[in-house]
Amino acid sequence: MNTKEIVAFIGLGNMGGGMAPNLVKAGFDVHAFDLSKEALAAAEQQGCTVYTSANEAVKNADYVVSMLPNGSIVEAVFIDGAEPLLKSMPTDALVIDCSTVAAASSKRLSEAAAASGIRVIDAPVSGGIAAAAAGTLAFMCGGEQSAFDAAQPVLSAMGSNIFLAGEAGAGQIAKICNNMLLAVHMSGTAEALQLGVDNGLDPKILSDIMLKSSGCNWSLEKYNPYPGVMEGAPASRNYEGGFMVDLMLKDLGLAQEAALASQSATPMGAAARSLFNLHKHSGETDKGSKDFSSVIQMYKRA
Ligand code: NAD
Repeated sequence: MNTKEIVAFIGLGNMGGGMAPNLVKAGFDVHAFDLSKEALAAAEQQGCTVYTSANEAVKNADYVVSMLPNGSIVEAVFIDGAEPLLKSMPTDALVIDCSTVAAASSKRLSEAAAASGIRVIDAPVSGGIAAAAAGTLAFMCGGEQSAFDAAQPVLSAMGSNIFLAGEAGAGQIAKICNNMLLAVHMSGTAEALQLGVDNGLDPKILSDIMLKSSGCNWSLEKYNPYPGVMEGAPASRNYEGGFMVDLMLKDLGLAQEAALASQSATPMGAAARSLFNLHKHSGETDKGSKDFSSVIQMYKRA
């Protein structure tokens, strides 16, 4: 008899492909499904048991973790598809949706699940691909306290900072507030560095000064956008790897939708979204797959 708890894992892409093996290492029996055969083969090599359908994967699950691209896919997989998972999973399973989606999507999933007695938390992450593989993600959760408590063994196997932000959808709101702020301070940092360079300063010396002054911020400390200033930052490897412009645009779009719904003023977030859009489409090739710190290229003189 299988005594290990079963985690069904749906969506083994850049993030999920790193997260699922950490559950295997923590002693869970991981039942994996993805539409991509390559993703499934990689998961199998990492100790997951792979299935040919999501319905099969969730059949005996104690937990169902999803890491999917967007809200319409999450809603199709769990609620609206031909074989919705809410109908095929055990009713005492706990759903942990780690995808970044609109808060309204998370609330809809939570309500649809509650109708069948299934508990759900939204648990979007901060940290990116490296943190997913290292098991050091931050989780920002929304849902009932009891469901959050029940999710701890799974979340702590994949992350090191785990927060409950509030009720269903609150994790998603926390995530888009954080990423909107990230876009704003990255853009501001890029603007300040280029202004200094245009006026004769060395970007490394200016960075050192601002790091010890009131302009200090996370982008400057961990992720300097100016090429050559910080070894290991995406700026020093032609903006390859890191957090893609397209994903930042997705999060800034969700932030603007939330602002519209709550009639909140977010002029900096709106400007950042326009700036990242201009950047994506500037030049001859689409910059969507470049790291988001490449936004500094919008400020550079030809
Ligand atoms: P990805 O595109 O690499 O992976 C998504 C996976 O889902 C793919 O393997 C795809 O085949 C699979 N998939 C799509 N539809 C499916 C379905 N119906 N059934 C089963 N599998 C399906 O994306 P990712 O970078 O892993 O991002 C996943 C989520 O995490 C997104 O919501 C993203 O916004 C969020 N996120 C990403 C990062 C990052 O740095 N990549 C950071 C934080 C949050």
